[in-house]
Amino acid sequence: MRIQEIETYTVKIPLKKPFKTALRTVIEAESVYVKVTTDNGISGYGEAPPTHVITGDSLHSIDYAINQVYKPLLIGKSIDQLEEVMQILQQAMIRNTSAKAALDMAVYDCFAQQTGLPLYKLLGGYRDELETDYTVSVNEPSEMADDAQQYIEDGFNLLKIKVGKDEIAKDIERIKAIREKVGDQPTIRLDANQGWSVKEAIYAIRKMEDLNLNIELVEQPVKYHDLKGLKQVTEQTETLIMADEAVFTSIDARRVLEMGAADLINIKLMKAGGIHEALKINRLAEAFGVSCMVGSMIETKLGISAAAHFAASQPNITRFDFDAPLMLKEDLINGGVTYERNHIYFSKDAGLGIHSIHEQSSKREEQ
Ligand SMILES: [Mg+2]
Repeated sequence: MRIQEIETYTVKIPLKKPFKTALRTVIEAESVYVKVTTDNGISGYGEAPPTHVITGDSLHSIDYAINQVYKPLLIGKSIDQLEEVMQILQQAMIRNTSAKAALDMAVYDCFAQQTGLPLYKLLGGYRDELETDYTVSVNEPSEMADDAQQYIEDGFNLLKIKVGKDEIAKDIERIKAIREKVGDQPTIRLDANQGWSVKEAIYAIRKMEDLNLNIELVEQPVKYHDLKGLKQVTEQTETLIMADEAVFTSIDARRVLEMGAADLINIKLMKAGGIHEALKINRLAEAFGVSCMVGSMIETKLGISAAAHFAASQPNITRFDFDAPLMLKEDLINGGVTYERNHIYFSKDAGLGIHSIHEQSSKREEQ
């Protein structure tokens, strides 16, 4: 089964409500879709959103990497030799993890379709359904409490609260307001997106512990490159600390794990460069007794389907942050995973189960 064609499309979809973190505000989701066609008539799909402030990738850099760098190297290559294809993705460019991820998931989609199995079954098939959290954007405390309450009414039991945008006292106010509104029952996890200093993080987390706000975990409290700082926060608080922006690839994961810098790791295909590398990170973490969450960027149901298939396949992945498609006004994907409130289900279709992508997506002009 050889790769015959690689095509890209760009899509733009407005969000229902602006997505706000310590790093950015997003009002419209943008992505590059990729379609890989093989000589035996199989089509595999992938997606890469540009996340300037995290991966550094842009729409144009993703498109260039796929069409100008990888396409000439991959046309004619056999997907049956999956490891050779993965080696090309890995070696032809450093970084550019979003473009790599889009191609990686499309290739895995073809590979699984060839076997007749849904991808998550082929990768290990550990779970048949997932429960996702829902993200509360960082805003004024009262607005965040109202949003949190709404998501609970919509059927979510896990809330991921974005903090770290301004002063610490306000973040504590935010969490107090949310806890007061939603009660003790819902699980609350925080994501500071690198917005705190080491001292602020230790102060804020201890304060929330003293106030019994019952925080399940805190994601990436400090700057992505400050592993010593991350370790300090992990050691000096009781709450679980999760590395997100600090871990892109298995090399980053190894450093964090060897240092004991975090209790948990958030794996995203867009940081890792796809499923192949994400599997490595997860295995490595498992060997260190560290469980993982799988999350995403602002991705449509295409990218999320790939992430969900990977996440469901592995027992060491115990947390799932897959709310992004629920934030979008439109769904351009026919097939893929299915949402029922906070639960995600897989079809019995082979591969990712993507049947087609909606016409809204604009095919890239040949240059
Ligand atoms: Mg995060």
